[in-house]
Amino acid sequence: MKVQEVLAAVNAIALFETQEGWDNSGLLVGSVWQEVKHVMVALDISAKVVDHAVEKGCDMIVSHHPVIFDPLTKLTAEHPVYQLASNNMTAICCHTPLDMVEGGINDLLVETLREKLGLTEEVFPLEEGGLGRIVTLAEPKSVEDIAKIAKEVLKCHTVRYLDAGVNGEKVKTLAICGGSGSSLLELADELHADALLTGDVKHDRWYAAQDNYISLIDCGHYHTEIGMVAFLAKKLKEVLPDLEVTECALEEPVKYV
Ligand SMILES: [Zn+2]
Repeated sequence: MKVQEVLAAVNAIALFETQEGWDNSGLLVGSVWQEVKHVMVALDISAKVVDHAVEKGCDMIVSHHPVIFDPLTKLTAEHPVYQLASNNMTAICCHTPLDMVEGGINDLLVETLREKLGLTEEVFPLEEGGLGRIVTLAEPKSVEDIAKIAKEVLKCHTVRYLDAGVNGEKVKTLAICGGSGSSLLELADELHADALLTGDVKHDRWYAAQDNYISLIDCGHYHTEIGMVAFLAKKLKEVLPDLEVTECALEEPVKYV
């Protein structure tokens, strides 16, 4: 089939036009008229991921994070875009549309945590029509307990947290955002969330959480989003049964001690 058909299938799963202004989702490498037989689904496209896809006989990679995001100032032979093009591979990246779409990354994260956190059925958007979700715990839990449960369920090596609870107050309303969502801290606070669970929390955000009396839990960017690989691979197989789909088997390159 043509790349165009895969592009249309990804667009049907999460509309590209819903992407944030700063995002770069879409067909980023190749032409809609190129042939595609075998797609690899990955969280990121690194040079190692391209090697892995070549080994598996893939001719396209569909990823969450855009392979071109920051300004591309040079295209060296080691760059994944160069690697893709020199292997005649195409790349589609679906970033914020997949975060926002109903059933997408944020809802997946909620569903993964639902049972162990004892969440009620109610799920509200954190940003209207956008990123993040707000959920309610049937039985309030301490921030430490939520962090421990998230660590187990999301298979994190480490989870960092800040307990801003006054007088040992427990968390009942929890804001959740996969990836790097600590910029939503103030919004979560305005919406009366007791805590925000996300990844990639920068130094200053811990102090902002402390000053705003909202607890903050950092489960890591990778571990809050890696569930998208199986999700998107399954969706693509359903929509395009003639397409061979392989999940990237490489783990994050980071080691923990
Ligand atoms: Zn991300």
